[in-house]
Amino acid sequence: MEKQAVQRAREAFLAGRPRPLEFRVQQLKSLQRMITDRQGEIATALKQDINRSQYDTPLFELIGLENEISLAVSKLAQWAAPRPVERNLLTISDQAYIQPEPLGVVLIIGAWNYPWALTLQPLVGAIAAGNAAVVKPSELSEYSASLLKALLPRYLDQELYPVVCGGVSETQELLRQRFDHVFYTGNSTVGKLVMEAAARHLTPVTLELGGKSPCYIDKDVDLRVACRRITWGKFVNCGQTCIAPDYILCEPSIQNRVVEGIRQTLLEFYGPDPKSSPDYSRIINQRHFNRLMTLLEGYTATVGGQSDSSQRYIAPTVVKDVPPQARLMQEEIFGPLLPIVTVSDIDDAIHFINEREKPLALYVFSSNKKVRRMLAETTSGGVTVNDVIMHYTLNSLPFGGVGQSGTGRYHGKHTFDQFSHHRACLVKSLGMEDVNMVRYPPQNRQKARR
Ligand code: NAD
Repeated sequence: MEKQAVQRAREAFLAGRPRPLEFRVQQLKSLQRMITDRQGEIATALKQDINRSQYDTPLFELIGLENEISLAVSKLAQWAAPRPVERNLLTISDQAYIQPEPLGVVLIIGAWNYPWALTLQPLVGAIAAGNAAVVKPSELSEYSASLLKALLPRYLDQELYPVVCGGVSETQELLRQRFDHVFYTGNSTVGKLVMEAAARHLTPVTLELGGKSPCYIDKDVDLRVACRRITWGKFVNCGQTCIAPDYILCEPSIQNRVVEGIRQTLLEFYGPDPKSSPDYSRIINQRHFNRLMTLLEGYTATVGGQSDSSQRYIAPTVVKDVPPQARLMQEEIFGPLLPIVTVSDIDDAIHFINEREKPLALYVFSSNKKVRRMLAETTSGGVTVNDVIMHYTLNSLPFGGVGQSGTGRYHGKHTFDQFSHHRACLVKSLGMEDVNMVRYPPQNRQKARR
């Protein structure tokens, strides 16, 4: 089944079907139509998968996708055009340019936390760049996966862009096939398996992984604003966001005010009982629910801490004075638990961040020169200063990780580039052979001629 889908996609690609720019634009517009026509069904599937609020679905899943499509449609001719480059003395009268061209058949493996955006945003770039793409949505967001499988063939070319559903064994079967690129979003353990499988075919990969994204709060900032923004980014989608702030670093003198700021904001956002709020999501499945509850064992929550296994509900939870060696600080949380670790000063915070794996995102709340130091002396996939998540929304910025948080980048033109081969082209004329004589043997040509 998986094999046939890949084979059909390969044949359609080799027949040249996705090459013409008009075809790509038409497919992208059709994808846009799918989102507009089916917004209601998509929101219902997300409600079933993760209790996503009706308000958050367009905001977090669909608007960004629509922006990506309209950008690709309007810029495609420019992106796909040959780009002339500088020439040297020997090539002064030739044509030298970089020609973006499709890679072939690519595999897109999506994750469950934003199942539409994380699967279709890479697809936009794959189509724009002229590839065939096999789409493998996550089996964990099952309502979204089956809706995508039902919808996509009604709007897009069925052979060029097949959807393959299934879990580990189906994905592994897919990974045994030869692709020209694999684009994977998910955790780093599986990321290694994907890279290993791709290596067998020398297939390049993009790995959009996760990690623990730190959030440093300086004592000089407006804590009311900082706490509101952090609370939003941490607890939206019930903390299941790859670039959610994973933990807070701050000095002990402001810790209690940070806790109060978050408590106050939670009340504003979700009311006194977040469980009954239509804006508060649920944990994706029982396994992740149990994982998060185990992470919390042995701590006393400063805010929240309540849970209900029957609904996979975990209240927005803050734990203060968490020791750096604690279990909560060893792995990515990916849920609504927010540890606060105190540091003595900015040097301590920088040291703390650099001692750990390179994160996917870094957040710095400060209005003084500490920002510059923090940016100069740390690294991360991306960074937002004085806010969280927002660098993701700007499609002129490349989105991706570094080190353990991923490899490769996408969004906007970066996705087009990720799915293109940048072919080096030099087109010479057969004339002016005299100039070329210098590079031909024998070394002592003048002598030989005489
Ligand atoms: P997941 O369980 O949905 O897995 C992702 C994909 O991998 C799925 O399509 C699944 O079928 C496949 N998969 C799972 N096990 C496999 C195996 N053994 N072999 C082959 N394929 C397999 O998602 P997840 O990994 O739980 O997602 C959460 C993680 O993803 C977090 O670490 C999060 O930070 C990260 N994430 C990163 C981004 C990003 O853009 N960088 C976005 C979202 C999530």
